[in-house]
Formats: sequence, structure tokens, C-alpha cells
Amino acid sequence: MFVDARSVDDGRVFESDVCIVGAGAAGITLALELAKAKVDVTLVESGDFQLEAATQKLYEGRVIDGDYPPIQLSRLRYLGGTTNHWGGACVPLDPFEFEAHSWLPHSGWPIGRADLDPYYERARAVIGLPRPDFRFDPAEEGAAQDPPLLGAENRDYETVIWRRPQPEPTRMGKKYRETIRSHPRIRCVLNANAIELVPGESGRAITALTARTLTGRELRFEARRFAICMGGIENARLLLASDTRIRGGIGNQNDRVGRYFADHGFRMMGKIHVTQQPAPSWFREERFWLSDPGPNATPDLVGFATRPSFRARRKLLGFSVIGHVDSGEWDDYRSEIGVQELAAASQGSGEAGKRERRVIRLYFVAEKAPNPDSRITLQPERDAVGMRKVALDLNLQERDWESVNENVRLLSTAVARSGVGRIRIVDPEGLPWCEGTGAHQTGTTRMSDDPKQGVTDRNGKVHGVENLYLCGGSLFPTAGWQHPTLTIFALSLRLADHLAGAGGAPAA
Ligand SMILES: Cc1cc2nc3c(=O)[nH]c(=O)nc-3n(C[C@H](O)[C@H](O)[C@H](O)COP(=O)(O)OP(=O)(O)OC[C@H]3O[C@@H](n4cnc5c(N)ncnc54)[C@H](O)[C@@H]3O)c2cc1C
Repeated sequence: MFVDARSVDDGRVFESDVCIVGAGAAGITLALELAKAKVDVTLVESGDFQLEAATQKLYEGRVIDGDYPPIQLSRLRYLGGTTNHWGGACVPLDPFEFEAHSWLPHSGWPIGRADLDPYYERARAVIGLPRPDFRFDPAEEGAAQDPPLLGAENRDYETVIWRRPQPEPTRMGKKYRETIRSHPRIRCVLNANAIELVPGESGRAITALTARTLTGRELRFEARRFAICMGGIENARLLLASDTRIRGGIGNQNDRVGRYFADHGFRMMGKIHVTQQPAPSWFREERFWLSDPGPNATPDLVGFATRPSFRARRKLLGFSVIGHVDSGEWDDYRSEIGVQELAAASQGSGEAGKRERRVIRLYFVAEKAPNPDSRITLQPERDAVGMRKVALDLNLQERDWESVNENVRLLSTAVARSGVGRIRIVDPEGLPWCEGTGAHQTGTTRMSDDPKQGVTDRNGKVHGVENLYLCGGSLFPTAGWQHPTLTIFALSLRLADHLAGAGGAPAA
């Protein structure tokens, strides 16, 4: 059932077994799974069924340096959350990403890939991914006869595939709206902005969540357990803002909340000019490359990533590359190609000739090293519901840029050596870390078995608080090169099992 918080009495108290805050990828998945396990849930959502400017404005905050875009642009604050404009690209984290690397301080998850394997599998059904696995198989892609590019036989790079739901990236609000409306165990309260978690006397359990509407009503949500799923920045914001009774905020006894913020570097690295004749099909065919999400979205995407062994050898951060077909820059192409190749390509005519001349822009997805000084803090300035706004300091380090530059150089050399073509590198000087919006916020409430190193334990339970759980990208200690949301879905399903079973027993 849906309830509009603006139409209930001021001071109304809602009670349930589990109170989930945030109805995006993580929150909706968790609510549906708990309801299936016969647990009564209240889902508290700031937005409505569609985007509304006044609510979206609550996401505004201060960005301390120019390397990160304004933070209200990337996240969407209504039912379905940021899945309302995500691209749907899904890929699991490699086992390597969970390991602690001696050359990368603060790396290592308290769980391994095997802990998530069953949940990655279950996540496929929630998202609606049609294909059975995340392995690139040239035969399956109709490309078995192609010369191996940087793929199978390359020691340093692997060909990777991002699966995508069809016919469009799954919009969680749209897809599950009717299920939420009709489910007897789910009550979703819209237009309710969480503003503070209220701890009991001992500070070891949460007794309530307070929320406010833009129309000024205050609501109280009481539950045996609370799960905060408000996204990578807001999860930390709520903990920090819950400081009326506990100085510094909830779960922040070791000053870890808000730290280790990360987002992928995402930028055009250059253009690839394919000179091999005929070009391998994954260069020839548009279906392998990114186009705008929507009804005409291409299906799965193919790209490249550095292999773990190569990364370990070179001490490199995660790095992958996706292409974007560039159809209209014939002149640019002509100026790039060598004279001989141009003569050869010119012999082609009509569509066939055109295809061979395709230029593909390459975008990299680069990992940022975990850094305690990359962080979210609160400012004195308040938003329209009275919550302190955030300040975000990306605090990029030399190591982040060095890894990007080295990765770009190594990949360009590998492409040239393969004989497929050449990459003309864009000069990265002065360019920001994220081109566009910034999209993959992680790390502000990282998991760790050691309360001095992280905010939650391996199940997402906040250290020192019996009944408070977090879910989403904020749990990631490191993010690799992989898009995060498949892992967020998997973590939600894992948390649902935990809360529905003995591991999630309510606080005394
Ligand atoms: C342009 C773009 C493209 C992307 N493409 C991809 C992709 O191809 N692949 C991929 O893996 N990832 C992609 N992402 C990232 C993906 O969208 C996020 O990782 C994912 O949506 C995060 O899920 P979440 O549930 O943690 O947060 P969200 O989906 O953002 O949900 C958070 C929810 O909490 C609610 N909320 C916030 N504050 C409050 C409050 N105070 N009180 C109550 N409710 C609150 C919000 O309204 C929202 O519904 C993309 C992101 C962007 C911006």
C-alpha cells in the first residue's frame, strides 16, 4: 500500500517489524524480499511517484573541488531512486576486488566473492536480466571467427561484458509499483523525508526514525530493525545528522562515517581508429557499444578491462573501457588515418565502406583509491526540511591520476600492437575526474570486521548498534572498475536473508 505523508496527521506514528528508508535499487529489493519472507515492512521514501523539483532540491550540497560535478544531478529522489535514469549495465565484482592488496592501503572486503555468488544469481531475476551469466563468450556473441582482439589470448587485458535488461534499464519504481501497492506486508510512505535516527537511552539500539514533509508535518517510524538505503551520500548524511543524543552522529564513535568516499573516474580517453580489414565484429557492430539508454538501447556491452594479474604486477587501480559509436565525424577520421589506410578504406563504397570507417570514442571507468580524506561532512546550512546539507570533498590523490594515465598509455600501446587500429588519446590535462554527472557513489560507511576501520560489520549492521543496518554503495570498501548496482542488488538480497533469518534477530 502507498500512503502520502502529506495527508496523515502531524505526529503520526507508524510501526512495523522492519523500517526501510529509501525506495531505490537497494530499498525496494530489500522490501520485496522481506515481504516474501512474511516480514512486515514500512518503506519510507522522500519522493513521490515522479520527480518534483522541491524534493530533488533536498539533494543539493557543496562540492569542495572542481573534480566532482554538482551532487543533485546524479541522484534522483523519488520512487525507484536513481534507477529512474541509470543505464542498466550490470557486471559482478571480480574475486580480486574483494582481496586486500599490500600495495593498496585500506583495500579488502570482509566478505569474498563466494559470499555474493548466490545473490548475484538471484539479482538477475529482480533486475530482469535475460542472459544466464556475465561471461564473455565470442561464440555466443556470433564473433567466434574473429581474430582475437585484446581478448582471450591477451595476458594483460580481458574482454568483458556488461549485461543489460531489455527493452530498457529496469526502473525499480515503475517495475514494482503495483507489487508494492498490492502487497499486504509492504507499506510505502511517500513524501516523507528521513531527518534523524533516534537512539534509546543506552545508545545501543535505535527506537525510531523521524521524518518531515515539505509541508511541515513530522512523522515517527518505530520498528524493531531499521535498514537505511538512501544511497552512497545520504546514508552517511543521515548517520552524521543523527547527533542530538550522540555526539558526532550514530555509528561514528571511531570517526569513520562519511570517509573513503569514491566514485569512478569516467571520461573519454580518446578515439579508436580501426584499421584492420575486416574489422573484428565487436568494432564493426554497433550493438556492442553504448548508445543512449531507452527503448532503443543496445543490449549487452562489450569492452576491455585490465586483468587482475596485470594490475597486481603493475600496482594499478581498476580500469575498464567502453566504446561509444561516433558516426558523424568523417572529417576527423580522415585527418587521423594514415594515407595508405585511407586509400584502402576509400575503396569500400556505400554502407559497407562506411562501416569499415567507423570511429569509436573510448570511455574509461577508473577506480579511485580508498582515501579516508575523501569524505562527506555536514555544513551548518540546512535544506527545506531542516536537515544539514552535505559538503563533499573528493580529495583525489596523485595515485588516482597516475593510475589513469598509466592505464591509458598501456591500453593504447596494446591496441596498437594488436594491429587492430590506433587510439588517439585525449589530453587529460585540466579535465575533471567525472565527465557528466558522477554516478557510482561508494564508500562512506564501508564494511569492516574492525570497528576502527569501518562503520558496519560484514552484514551491514552498524558497529555498536544492535538493530541498525545499511545497504548500498556506501558499504563498498573498494569499487574496482565494475559498475556498482548489480552488487548493490546482491547485497540487498543478502541483507534480506540475514534479517529474515536468525542472523537478523531483533534487538532486546
Ligand atoms: C546517469 C546514471 C547512469 C547510471 N548507470 C548505471 C549503470 O549502467 N550501471 C550501474 O551499475 N549503475 C549505474 N548507475 C548507478 C545507479 O543508479 C546507482 O548505483 C543505484 O541507483 C544506487 O541504488 P541505491 O538504492 O543505493 O540508491 P538510489 O537508487 O539513489 O535510491 C535512494 C532512495 O533513497 C531516497 N531518499 C534519499 N534521501 C532520503 C530521505 N532523507 N528520506 C527518505 N528517502 C530518501 C531517494 O528518493 C531514493 O529513492 C547510474 C547512475 C547515474 C546517475
